[in-house]
Amino acid sequence: MATRVMKMSALYAPTLKEDPAEAELASHKLMLRAGLIRKVASGLYSYLPLAWRSIRKIEDICRDEMDAIGAQEMLAPILTPAELWEESGRIGAYGPELMRLEDRHDRTFCLGPTHEETFTDLVRNELKSYKQLPVTLYQIQDKFRDELRPRFGLMRGREFIMKDAYSFSATQESLQEVYEDMKGAYARYCERCGLKALPVAADSGEIGGDSSIEYMALADAGEASLVWCDCGFAADDEAASTTVAVSEGPGDGTLQKVSTPGLGTIEAVAEFFGFPENGTRKSLALIDGEGNPVVAIVPGDHELNEIKAAKLFGDYHLMTEEELDETGLHKGFIGPVGLPAGVRLVCDSSLQASKSWTCGANEVDYHYTGACPGRDFTVDAWEDLVTVKEGDPCPHCGAPLKGGRGIECGQVFQIGPDKYAAKMGATFADENGREQPFYMGCYGIGISRTLAAIVEQHHDDHGIVWPVSVAPYEVSVIALDKKGEAFDRAAAIAEELAAAGIEVVFDDRAERPGVKFADNDLMGFPYQLIVGKRGLANGTVELKCRATGEREDVPADDVVERLA
Ligand code: ATP
Ligand code: MG
Ligand code: MG
Ligand code: MG
Repeated sequence: MATRVMKMSALYAPTLKEDPAEAELASHKLMLRAGLIRKVASGLYSYLPLAWRSIRKIEDICRDEMDAIGAQEMLAPILTPAELWEESGRIGAYGPELMRLEDRHDRTFCLGPTHEETFTDLVRNELKSYKQLPVTLYQIQDKFRDELRPRFGLMRGREFIMKDAYSFSATQESLQEVYEDMKGAYARYCERCGLKALPVAADSGEIGGDSSIEYMALADAGEASLVWCDCGFAADDEAASTTVAVSEGPGDGTLQKVSTPGLGTIEAVAEFFGFPENGTRKSLALIDGEGNPVVAIVPGDHELNEIKAAKLFGDYHLMTEEELDETGLHKGFIGPVGLPAGVRLVCDSSLQASKSWTCGANEVDYHYTGACPGRDFTVDAWEDLVTVKEGDPCPHCGAPLKGGRGIECGQVFQIGPDKYAAKMGATFADENGREQPFYMGCYGIGISRTLAAIVEQHHDDHGIVWPVSVAPYEVSVIALDKKGEAFDRAAAIAEELAAAGIEVVFDDRAERPGVKFADNDLMGFPYQLIVGKRGLANGTVELKCRATGEREDVPADDVVERLA
């Protein structure tokens, strides 16, 4: 399809000669210098025409990948009524990042930082039967988070563009399938955007399942520090520094699900230890060597802790404030059961203060343990904690780990039925006509952060080096002459390219060639066609590839064919 030539003389892309003082990262500097973004206030940016063209391409790649796995695009309001956040219980838990405002009737609204509540509310009265499931809905929209430290330009804004998707399934198996599809889509999204990215298990790279994965674009500017291995193992900073550790002794380092006859049920464990809520609860807590509970997994509403708990124990119960006694310990604690040698336990870094401990949690007929009944296992000291660093042997294959930093461009979560659907009464009728809460998944991509990550990965000393797929324009035609026949020929070439459907900028400005070269390098269009009298005398123009710097004389009559 034919496109229109954009004349550089008219393009609203105010460039800066010097690096702006406020910017630290290459992406932030270059986007300001190349006239892509301008700051409105802290964490708030306008996307100027060049950035907006790239953003739209990134969005379209994202759309295409979402549509390909059967997700359906829609759009919900950015404002969300506070009542929905109360229903889910997140109004308090979300904290000051949640931007609130009141309407003229004093009703409170939140500027959506993410939309689980809105989408759960949407489907709860509409999706009625398992026969209608699964359903995945998504939107691309501005999100708002009052970040403590908005910084690095588009990297961490207070208003930013996100793709957020929500899936509703009848079973865990169905959720798992949607999740697998999403993982494929996310990997392709990163690749098509020109990003070298790693899927990193969000809590720990080591413990079996992967109920949450972050897509980390490798870049020195990233906030996360990562280790990874060619065998597929990858872990982030948090996992590497706080996930833990391992007892001395045998064991392969993986969590073991062990049949524990005689003490194999929650009921039996509860009875054994004489806990009051006999058999009624599936809890997770840590106890000391004397069997005294020392810490419960952090109470509250922290998704990651839930996921960690779920991953470790399959069956878990996240403690609420009411269930803790005045010292912060769990009243109805069930345990202890031992940890087998070699087991790794994910926990919050605050738990590292305690010395020896064992850990309890179970599911019917199994413990994730090899040492029942028991207080017979302790981790001797937190000094034994394993933090995986670059160069350490990979926990999966033993090869030396690689290390680097990453930018979180997206994240996929298996949420399950408890967190939103059950709390908000979002149910469907299963095969037996019983009402069940939806198994939910949620899946975010930072569209505007992706743009910043692309620039981090694709730039050099002269400016941005756009991958073709997301470049604001594919080609710039640079007229060396300010007027005359050669200038007219350059204009004609630009028109021919546009007619052939190639997105083209025509640098028609009355500037010296040096200025034009510098600006075109800065803006980073993948191909430059340099048109001047001297070349035209031989019937050629110069084609420069921005990424490689290679230059080639191409017959002026062949450029459309070459670039199409
Ligand atoms: P971060 O760890 O960087 O704070 P997050 O884990 O809080 O991000 P999610 O809730 O997973 O973010 O949101 C989905 C995606 O939205 C993230 O993977 C990221 O790409 C993007 N994102 C999150 N916060 C911001 C922000 N303040 N500015 C730009 N993009 C963001
Ligand atoms: Mg955040
Ligand atoms: Mg994060
Ligand atoms: Mg995240």
